[in-house]
Amino acid sequence: MSLPMVVPEPGLPERVRIYEVGPRDGLQNESQRVPTEVKAEFVRRLVAAGLPVVEATSFVHPRWVPQLADAADLMTMLGDAGRDHPVLVPNERGLDRALELGLRHVAIFGSATETFAQRNLNRSLDEQLAMFEPTVRRARDAGLDVRAYLSMCFGDPWEGAVPVDQVVSVGTRLLDLGASELSLGDTIGVGTPGAVTALVGAFGAYGVGTDRLAMHFHDTYGQALANTHAALRAGVTTFDASAGGLGGCPYAESATGNLATEDLVWMLTGLGIDHGVDLEALVATSAWMAGQLGRPSPSAVVRALAQSSS
Ligand code: MG
Repeated sequence: MSLPMVVPEPGLPERVRIYEVGPRDGLQNESQRVPTEVKAEFVRRLVAAGLPVVEATSFVHPRWVPQLADAADLMTMLGDAGRDHPVLVPNERGLDRALELGLRHVAIFGSATETFAQRNLNRSLDEQLAMFEPTVRRARDAGLDVRAYLSMCFGDPWEGAVPVDQVVSVGTRLLDLGASELSLGDTIGVGTPGAVTALVGAFGAYGVGTDRLAMHFHDTYGQALANTHAALRAGVTTFDASAGGLGGCPYAESATGNLATEDLVWMLTGLGIDHGVDLEALVATSAWMAGQLGRPSPSAVVRALAQSSS
């Protein structure tokens, strides 16, 4: 299998932690429902490929995300090993289910904008934070680690550009609730590198270092790797990505354009940045998953490597 030429760039982090979101963010945005056994196999294969964190599912109400209605079954099927996989919990009810299963890592999902908070959660920004407060407090009291996602950090389809101060204000409030990590999402993929540099810098000026930030880029407008590079230069060391670009199928109406893990791994490898992922095993996993879904992967790297090997 071909690999990129390795030419390190001075000033970038030596090591990056990839936070794999394919089984949750990817599959929740795919129109097809995937059998629970296939999801469990997918998670196991991602772990075997060296991904240090694999978010497994979401305890959201099945009415909103029917693709993940089997969340509890999946976590039971994964057994003891499943306890270390983060799961999304939209509210206290979701947290209750995570606690019943003895899980150790949960994530909450908030909005940086008023309109998306209303549309996604049917709540104002303040009401959203009020809802998260007991969820995070109870999770922390039970010894769980909490990650906070913040969506619409670079633009919102209804409000347009989102002011940096607003993102920092909502983001720091989520951290202050007790989240250990804040994942800044470019939900509609409109961000460009200068905006990334400015946002990470603004968090730094507010006392939030890059050790508490993760970036969640979408490739909707082809900017995800350029934005990743800008974030690396700003010192960020945790990046969310979705194996095979799941959830970003260019042929599906629900496309959200998740950055493909393979595309990220290719660039990090070329930059000489340690990531711990076996690209060949990862590509094989995504090719297998694409077969399960019956359509090609939207990842440029998966397609290129599949072509070169055939
Ligand atoms: Mg996403």
